Amino acid sequence: MNLTVKNHSIPLSDGNQIPLLGLGTYGDPRTTPKGTARECVKLAIDVGYRHFDGALVYFNEHEVGQAIREKIADGTVRREDIFYCGKLWNTFHPPQLVRPALERTLKNLKLDYVDLYIVELPMAFKPGKEFYPIDKNGQYIYHPTDLCATWEALEACKDAGLVKSLGVSNFNRRQLELLLTKPGLKHKPVSNQVECHPYFTQPKLLEFCRQHDIVVVGYCPLGSSRDSSWVNLKSPPLLEDELLVNIGKKYNKSTAQVALRFNVQRGVVVIPKSFNPERIKHNFQVIFDFALTEGEMKAIEALNKNIRFVELKMWSDHPEYPFHDDY
Ligand code: NAP
Repeated sequence: MNLTVKNHSIPLSDGNQIPLLGLGTYGDPRTTPKGTARECVKLAIDVGYRHFDGALVYFNEHEVGQAIREKIADGTVRREDIFYCGKLWNTFHPPQLVRPALERTLKNLKLDYVDLYIVELPMAFKPGKEFYPIDKNGQYIYHPTDLCATWEALEACKDAGLVKSLGVSNFNRRQLELLLTKPGLKHKPVSNQVECHPYFTQPKLLEFCRQHDIVVVGYCPLGSSRDSSWVNLKSPPLLEDELLVNIGKKYNKSTAQVALRFNVQRGVVVIPKSFNPERIKHNFQVIFDFALTEGEMKAIEALNKNIRFVELKMWSDHPEYPFHDDY
């Protein structure tokens, strides 16, 4: 793979392309100062990032969109240089709510289209104002989930030109097969965004996705923020792993860079989040100037612990909870 700052994209099955490295933009809205996402996305564009992973439910899409528009306005990039991924939240699964949800994202971004729009989770929640609807007893209120019907509404959005490519996130094999074998399928999912890093390497799902031309986008590629309010801390800190530390020393790279390079080198797109200027720059220096040997790739693969940082156990009684299955 000959990757450069200007060209580090891989093909999607619909003819479009996705940059192998993107900036994750989820920061806890309660603790992230306003304007942070905007400044960080602008800096990231200056550094060379062209891919941004966002979502309506991150509550900062307006800042991400503003940053992108400002960098277009000052001539740094053109709209077609940028790849933005948005996500359909659980309360918008009924077909009639899909396009309005995407339009809400476009309105936040003040852009005409998104490059990729993905079903964030395969679990529908009760539609309404609340993104996390709960009843009097504090129980989440779910909604009948019909992934094929939701998908057809997404296909209509692509046909209408509101989105270039369609994908999913947190789908297991069965849920992917449901879409792939849907009678009359018009647009295949081009990607599946799932947790993926040296402690959760996803060998079976990766193989299945390879066979079906589905690009895997790895979230928590650095082992997550380890925020105990939503991250499972049973797995030790990835960035302190001895093997990654030692490989990093050999190449004069950090453990974070080794972890990112591991996925990039096996064709898994990475979307590390950082709202720190130095780390935003640092994380970008993985594609161009070093490569892991085959032996190192194998040794890192063997670190797999099969434990998720993002378990979403609070929704494990949802009929479409994706993580009961082996993969
Ligand atoms: P992550 O990218 O693995 O880790 C982010 C954490 O690592 C932050 O605390 C960040 O802090 C820190 N960090 C960044 N660069 C670092 C470096 N070089 N050295 C040490 N620490 C570093 O985890 P994530 O944010 O959970 O996942 C990334 C993105 O994936 C999210 O932002 C979001 O866009 C997406 N995501 C999607 C889903 C889904 O269900 N589809 C789920 C989770 C995440 P600083 O900001 O202070 O640098």
